Amino acid sequence: MARLELQSVSKRYGEFHAAREVSLDIADGEFLVLLGPSGCGKTTTLRMIAGFIDPTEGSVHIGGRDVTRLPPWKRNAGLVFQNYALFPHMSVAQNVAFGLEMRSTPKSEIPGLVSEALQLVQLEHLADRLPRQMSGGQQQRVALARALVFHPDVLLLDEPLSNLDAKLRHDVRVEIRSLQQRLGLTTVMVTHDQEEALTMADRLVVMKDGQVRQVGSQRDLYEHPADSFVADFVGRSSFIRGRMHGTTLKSAGGLEIVCGREIVGDAVVALRPERVHLSKQPLQGMENVFPGQVTFVSYMGSLIDVHVKLSEADQVIAQLPNHEGHELPDVGEAVHVGWSSTASVFPAQ
Ligand code: ATP
Repeated sequence: MARLELQSVSKRYGEFHAAREVSLDIADGEFLVLLGPSGCGKTTTLRMIAGFIDPTEGSVHIGGRDVTRLPPWKRNAGLVFQNYALFPHMSVAQNVAFGLEMRSTPKSEIPGLVSEALQLVQLEHLADRLPRQMSGGQQQRVALARALVFHPDVLLLDEPLSNLDAKLRHDVRVEIRSLQQRLGLTTVMVTHDQEEALTMADRLVVMKDGQVRQVGSQRDLYEHPADSFVADFVGRSSFIRGRMHGTTLKSAGGLEIVCGREIVGDAVVALRPERVHLSKQPLQGMENVFPGQVTFVSYMGSLIDVHVKLSEADQVIAQLPNHEGHELPDVGEAVHVGWSSTASVFPAQ
């Protein structure tokens, strides 16, 4: 168990910044997820923690120890990759033992440690199988056992579930999270899957173009996104663009939207679909109410998305719960939408 710190870590390839001044402080036992679109620098950051990539600047500390210049095997970090990277010709037990042999663990201790690790992932009964004789989910658990067998200070997971089908992914997610909590293991996971990030993390880091855009709990990011990129990437938002006049945004389509804060210049309002009220009658009691026309209705079972055009340039999505007897609007129908003044207004990017 250990605290993990990144101090202003950067990785440059020529002029290109794959990671730029990434600073993170991950508490002992915390599960942190690095989230962001392809190419944002997640894997680069994880590999700098693991020791496979040397930072151009900055330092990495595990348990208070500066490990920046140490090779991977001296960092005591357990790693799990997307493709498992198991040796095909070795049994499950041999695969798990391999890392111990590399670390010169005394031979007499190896069987006990291997069996303990296999027990953790509930695979003791398959110790003699070869990887190809196992399902994807089982192989992933072997990879996890291999990462845990030497009692790492930190666990690093690089898209560990992306090769699994949807149902299995859900189960393995729960298994990894409960094991991590049980062991109190400081963990960093890379994913571009928002749902995975939201269900597993204690805190999330949203990255873009090599930089950290925001760090926070699921709730922080959803309720108080730092910018329009985070508002778009975490959860869903409709955006209305325009120019600010005091606390009012005048949209491209001529709407005047009352906002919760003042910004100067071009700005964008982000609206969560479940915060947009929709009615066939005029709405009251909200700062922002507009007539509009339904352009699209998307039925998603428990929820229904209604796309509403408010002007030639402006559109919002209202999300309705699918209550019994709820009358759905039709495409082309005139409706009213409304929302309270919102703090989610950001400078245009
Ligand atoms: P993905 O989700 O697609 O794996 P990522 O967020 O993990 O993306 P990284 O693998 O960290 O992204 O890469 C960040 C950026 O750095 C990308 O634009 C990538 O092309 C670039 N990059 C990575 N390795 C190198 C390298 N060895 N030389 C030059 N550029 C690189």
